[in-house]
Amino acid sequence: MAATVREETVTHVHHWTDRLFTFKTTRDPSFRFRSGQFTMIGLEDQGKPLMRAYSLVNPHYDEELEFYSIKVQDGPLTSKLQHLKVGDKVLVNSKPTGTLVADYLFPGKHLYMLGTGTGLAPFLSLIRDPEIYEQYEKVILVHGCRHIADLSYQAEIEALPDNEFFGEMVKDKLIYYPTVTREPFRNNGRITALLESGKLFNDIGLPKPNLDDDRFMLCGSPAMLADLVAVLKSWDLQEATTKNPGHYAIERAFVEK
Ligand SMILES: Cc1cc2nc3c(=O)[nH]c(=O)nc-3n(C[C@H](O)[C@H](O)[C@H](O)COP(=O)(O)OP(=O)(O)OC[C@H]3O[C@@H](n4cnc5c(N)ncnc54)[C@H](O)[C@@H]3O)c2cc1C
Repeated sequence: MAATVREETVTHVHHWTDRLFTFKTTRDPSFRFRSGQFTMIGLEDQGKPLMRAYSLVNPHYDEELEFYSIKVQDGPLTSKLQHLKVGDKVLVNSKPTGTLVADYLFPGKHLYMLGTGTGLAPFLSLIRDPEIYEQYEKVILVHGCRHIADLSYQAEIEALPDNEFFGEMVKDKLIYYPTVTREPFRNNGRITALLESGKLFNDIGLPKPNLDDDRFMLCGSPAMLADLVAVLKSWDLQEATTKNPGHYAIERAFVEK
């Protein structure tokens, strides 16, 4: 079916900081996606759609759509999007896509989700999808930011073990590891450094990754992805594509212009 652009209505807006916010919209019942995918969303601008790629933050079964957004002050879309109010209209493309989907990876025991900044977004969808806990013994979510205030969704993630439907699986399997680089916190340091030094694995009580057991999903800036891929390659891990499975899959959180 050809992609169409539909208009959805904003139902909820929450500002985390002056750089980050979340909003929810209605969902056309025919819109289908897989947890971890992204689609193009936007606003009508001078009679034309102004669209950008956005990860879906909600799991595939939710009745509404949820997005986690940066506010770029001179950004064509987000300079406007950050002023959204309940009742406003947002454009949503009907064709989602993306590589952060569990079956692009070889089967394994431990799934590491490594995200920086808004790169957390696809993982929020995946950790709220019971399917991921059926596929892995441990699901490790690492979220890296500069400041503690940028660690959005902490309370929601920490409340997941109380979920009435899949809380028991989360309790046994999800390990949440937020880390910041610019102020003291319970975990400090860049994700690359935490992997290379082995500190992450010591802290969470899992062995250093090996080809049989460990799988990775990465979402962050182009620089973060380049650094992390270099580490994974040095461990002989192969990248997954939509055509060939691998040990790790990557998605850009944004493109540097
Ligand atoms: C596959 C994919 C998924 C994406 N998912 C999301 C998402 O879930 N949430 C989200 O906020 N953005 C996401 N983005 C980025 C998004 O598409 C836009 O770039 C962003 O909304 C800013 O749009 P803009 O028109 O205001 O500025 P743009 O002209 O698009 O960007 C201007 C500059 O702002 C910076 N920038 C853009 N986005 C970000 C970001 N997320 N974090 C830090 N710096 C950024 C970059 O330096 C960029 O060059 C995604 C991008 C890709 C490729």
